[in-house]
Amino acid sequence: MLDDCIFCKIVAGEISASKIYEDDKILAFLDIKPVNPGHTLIISKDHFADFLQAPDEIICQMTLVTKKIGQKILDSRLGQGVNITNNIKSAAGQVVNHIHIHVIPRLENDGFELWHGREYAEGEEKKIAEKLKS
Ligand code: AMP
Ligand code: ZN
Repeated sequence: MLDDCIFCKIVAGEISASKIYEDDKILAFLDIKPVNPGHTLIISKDHFADFLQAPDEIICQMTLVTKKIGQKILDSRLGQGVNITNNIKSAAGQVVNHIHIHVIPRLENDGFELWHGREYAEGEEKKIAEKLKS
């Protein structure tokens, strides 16, 4: 547990949350400011700063819980669709530095947009692909 981490405090029971799933490693609870009702956060009970810093085993367990909750959102009709998102570092919008996956119910015409794409400049796409190839 990290002092001053709000999600560690939820794990420790020092701050209340509407928990909807729990096992020995993973906790899921409702986001306090939902994009749409049912917006859920999946977290690791152990503190890791973000998705890239957590062990693979934790990522696998979080992903399985994410899948279950995404299906539950559809089955309960809280969403007609689901966005699964994860923010890594402030440049990507991460505010709470404790690993969490957002599972967001989406409705046709709910008015929320994703980011807009842009065209690559001439020759840029090839260079970028080279940078990312392993
Ligand atoms: P991010 O921008 O990916 O770091 O998202 C952090 C999310 O945590 C936001 O959507 C907040 O609304 C949510 N959040 C912050 N504090 C709490 C809390 N005490 N209980 C539930 N959700 C929270
Ligand atoms: Zn934490």
